[in-house]
Amino acid sequence: MLQIRRLVTPAFVNEMEKLCPGGVHINVNLANLSRWRIGGTADCILRPASTEQLATTIRYFNDYDVPYVVIGATSNLLFADEGLQVPCIQIGSSLSKLSIREDTVYAQAGVWVPGLARRIMQAGLTGAEHICGIPGTLGGLVYMNGGSQRKGIGSVVASIESVDARGNIHYRNTEQCEFSYRSSVYQNNTEVVTKVKLVLSPGDKARVRKNMLNILASRNKKFPRKLPSCGSVFKSNPTLYAAIGPPGAVIERMGFKGVRCGGAVVSSEHANFIVNSGGARASDVLSLVKKIQASLAESFGCKLEAEAIYVSPAGELVTLDEKIQ
Ligand SMILES: Cc1cc2nc3c(=O)[nH]c(=O)nc-3n(C[C@H](O)[C@H](O)[C@H](O)COP(=O)(O)OP(=O)(O)OC[C@H]3O[C@@H](n4cnc5c(N)ncnc54)[C@H](O)[C@@H]3O)c2cc1C
Repeated sequence: MLQIRRLVTPAFVNEMEKLCPGGVHINVNLANLSRWRIGGTADCILRPASTEQLATTIRYFNDYDVPYVVIGATSNLLFADEGLQVPCIQIGSSLSKLSIREDTVYAQAGVWVPGLARRIMQAGLTGAEHICGIPGTLGGLVYMNGGSQRKGIGSVVASIESVDARGNIHYRNTEQCEFSYRSSVYQNNTEVVTKVKLVLSPGDKARVRKNMLNILASRNKKFPRKLPSCGSVFKSNPTLYAAIGPPGAVIERMGFKGVRCGGAVVSSEHANFIVNSGGARASDVLSLVKKIQASLAESFGCKLEAEAIYVSPAGELVTLDEKIQ
């Protein structure tokens, strides 16, 4: 395996410039880039401008045995304080073409979800109201099967194009995407989502708009908006949900609202959010997660699975609860 510290040399950067012209960024401060405003320095971030550039870059990494990690808008990620020492492929605005024909949406994976929801509303289509206000890319949303109102994006996905670890293109229909609660097949393979086809239903534009505004108003009331966070830290646990309620209610019941480790604080507005009150480190967030899990084990004899994902310096992705074990 190549040593990544040695890889990000002028020669490596030259190679990357050939593969992703204009899309190579060196020594990127992850505390500036990431949604949580946490993390050390990323040695190299690549922003391919086409599926072909992405596939060629991945093929190069496969040929030379170079580890890498794929990110979207970072809304669900906690980057290590030590930074990121493997090349990082970011799928974002450089891969964000979007078109709508009749009831079908064709979108590249870097499309920004709140903008997508707005375009769907303007087209008078219904079925995806639940994605409005979710800060992230469509690729990240598909990977997480994210959504709200107890729904996931998978409910309106018709097919997906992706690039595998050898740079080959694949197509999957809904069933092959294996969507379930906050999960998809892309969490179990190394493919990068590149294009998504959504099929919606014709609706009444004014009614869709009203529903979206109601959802946004309710989100604005419930969720902390002023301080950086990654949204819900923990997934819902059916047993705890039946006994007490969603993770926020459980964590609040244990008295965690306002509890702090360094710059990381359990939000006093919504206990399933850990906010960065200024200068938080990944280790602060992980300490809080550890305290919450210990308290859960003591009070209820169970744990909550984390939704948020830790990105190690070597580019490994593990959930926050897996990281603290
Ligand atoms: C304030 C706030 C509110 C939120 N509310 C919600 C909510 O209501 N519902 C909800 O579900 N989530 C919510 N989230 C979490 C987050 O917005 C979603 O999980 C979002 O879909 C993540 O998208 P992303 O582009 O930021 O992905 P990232 O966070 O960058 O990545 C998440 C995972 O997806 C993978 N990934 C990203 N892009 C691709 C791709 N193209 N191909 C393959 N894998 C990829 C990454 O490797 C990573 O493992 C919220 C977050 C915040 C900050």
